[in-house]
Amino acid sequence: MTAQRLCPQTIDEATQLLAQHANEARVIAGGSDLLPEIDQGTLTPNYLIDLGEIPNLDYIREDGDHVRLGARVTHDQIIQSELAQRLAPLLVRACSMFSDADIRKKSTVVGNIASGLSTNLTVAALWAMGAEVKLKSVRGERTVTFNDFFKGVRQTVLAPDELIVEIAFSKMSPKDKGAFVATGWSRDEASPQVTVAVVLEFDGDEISNAWINIGGVAPTVVNAIEAEQSLVGQWLSDVAIDEAADLAMNAVVTNPDATEIVRELVGKAMREIRDS
Ligand SMILES: Cc1cc2nc3c(=O)[nH]c(=O)nc-3n(C[C@H](O)[C@H](O)[C@H](O)COP(=O)(O)OP(=O)(O)OC[C@H]3O[C@@H](n4cnc5c(N)ncnc54)[C@H](O)[C@@H]3O)c2cc1C
Repeated sequence: MTAQRLCPQTIDEATQLLAQHANEARVIAGGSDLLPEIDQGTLTPNYLIDLGEIPNLDYIREDGDHVRLGARVTHDQIIQSELAQRLAPLLVRACSMFSDADIRKKSTVVGNIASGLSTNLTVAALWAMGAEVKLKSVRGERTVTFNDFFKGVRQTVLAPDELIVEIAFSKMSPKDKGAFVATGWSRDEASPQVTVAVVLEFDGDEISNAWINIGGVAPTVVNAIEAEQSLVGQWLSDVAIDEAADLAMNAVVTNPDATEIVRELVGKAMREIRDS
C-alpha cells in the first residue's frame, strides 16, 4: 500500500496529525533516508507527514551564545550560510563532506540527526558544540541534549507523536577553534566509518578546554575524556597532539578495529587546528 502524504501548513497542524496517526505515520523532510527504506519495505507507514509546506522552518539564527537551526535547514544551506561559516565551521565542514551534491541540497540536518546513526556526518560535529534538540507534540515541548537523545543504533528518545522543531548549539567564540575529519560515509553500516569532531578553547596559546567526540565506533557518539583532559593547560605541540591521539584510543577499546583510525583522525584534526 502506498503511504498517503499529508501536508500540514503549521507546526501545530503537524503535531495534531502525528497525535492522530502516531504509530502509522512518519515525518518526512528531504526523504533521502526514509524513501529508500520505504522502497525496500523496511518501513511501511500508512501516512507521511511532509514538513515541506510549513513556512519559515529553514532558519539559521544567532541567539545569544547559541545558533539555532530550523527543522528544514538543508546541508547545502549550512554550507552557503555566512553565519554558519563564522560560528560553526566544523558543521560546515561536516556538511561539505556529504557524498552527493543533490542529496546535500534536499536533505536536512534534522533528518541526519533523527535517523539515530552516530556515523551520520553532522552528529559528532553538533555533539562537540553541545547540541540539543527541541521536541514538540500535542503533549507539550521539551529540550533534550544529544547525550540524552541518542540511545543506540537507530534508537533515540523521539516518541512516535513528536516532531523535532529545532537544533540549538553553542556558537564558537573567537577563543575557540574546531576541526571535523572523517573516513567517509556509506549506506553500508557494516563498513568502517569514523567521524571525529574536536573543539578547543584557548586562553592565549594555552588550551583551557577541550571537546573530542567520535562517531561510528560505538552505538552512539563517545567522548575521548582522557584525551580531552590531557590537553587542558597545554600548548598544541607535537608531543601534546600525539599524547592526546594515543589517549583517544582508550575511548574506543570496545571496538579494536577502530583504535588506529581514531588515533590518526584525532591527530589529524588537532594538526588542522594548529595549522589553521
Ligand atoms: C545517495 C545518498 C547519499 C548520502 N550521503 C550521506 C552522507 O554523505 N553523509 C550522511 O551522513 N548521510 C548521507 N545520506 C543519508 C541521508 O541523506 C541523511 O541522513 C539526511 O540528512 C537525511 O535527511 P532527510 O531530510 O532526507 O531526512 P528524511 O529521509 O526525510 O528523514 C530521515 C528520518 O528522520 C525523521 N525526521 C525527519 N525530520 C524530522 C523531524 N523534523 N522530526 C522528527 N523526525 C524527523 C524521518 O521520519 C526519518 O525517520 C545519504 C543518502 C543517500 C540516499
